[in-house]
Amino acid sequence: IVQMKDMNKYYGTHHVLKNIDLSVDSGEVVVIIGASGSGKSTLIRCVNGLEEYESGQLVVDGHPLSPKGGNQTELSAIRKEVGMVFQQFNLFPHLTVKRNIMLAPMKVKQNSEADAEAIALRLLERVGIANQAEKYPSQLSGGQQQRVAIARALAMEPRLMLFDEPTSALDPEMIGEVLDVMRELAREGMTMMVVTHEMGFAREVADRVIYIHEGQIVEQGKPESVFDAPQNERTQAFLSRVL
Ligand code: ATP
Ligand code: MG
Repeated sequence: IVQMKDMNKYYGTHHVLKNIDLSVDSGEVVVIIGASGSGKSTLIRCVNGLEEYESGQLVVDGHPLSPKGGNQTELSAIRKEVGMVFQQFNLFPHLTVKRNIMLAPMKVKQNSEADAEAIALRLLERVGIANQAEKYPSQLSGGQQQRVAIARALAMEPRLMLFDEPTSALDPEMIGEVLDVMRELAREGMTMMVVTHEMGFAREVADRVIYIHEGQIVEQGKPESVFDAPQNERTQAFLSRVL
């Protein structure tokens, strides 16, 4: 569903992504790990066009996304098919939980209010907070807010979900409830690209773990091979710091 070929990205003169070749299959869960500043966020933000890249190729669900300067006729199609969840939940503070979820289906998909509401309530049920529908984001815990953010992304019926450190801003006791929702999504067959420092989650849920070092994929494979028998010395050093 995602094909990156020889992708390069710069911030000014800083070469942040180097010759990235990465394909993600439909239904696959890919977890991206690496040190701070290695380019993990940049990599997944390219997938929904939040960042432009300088050279190479990127195709998302059959839609080509050109390098910088190209015409991005497919960008809105891609954005409809790719959901994203950030470290900071980015909910609209002035809208109730339910309205946060209804917004995109009504604005982008032109769903009726009644349909959008039904979708929102079903999704809130699915992420375990059906009873919070009428509250405002500030009245919820961090874990609940992040589950709303996941529900909001799912309301567009994405074909692919991107997660950028979805539990990094949470108090430790709330991490589990968000990971449970993600685990369930994976089990239901959602295609997911996940940047996380939760190595237990990666080991358990990932079909593939990708280790990025200074903008390059230096190692990838099944979780058990990357975690238990890393081949690259950079991966070994990183894992010895975080495991
Ligand atoms: P972290 O684990 O801290 O989130 P990361 O692996 O997600 O790190 P990126 O955010 O992708 O790393 O950043 C990669 C590099 O690009 C870093 O050196 C960062 O300082 C730089 N960078 C990121 N965003 C920008 C920007 N908008 N302008 C300039 N440089 C940037
Ligand atoms: Mg990041």
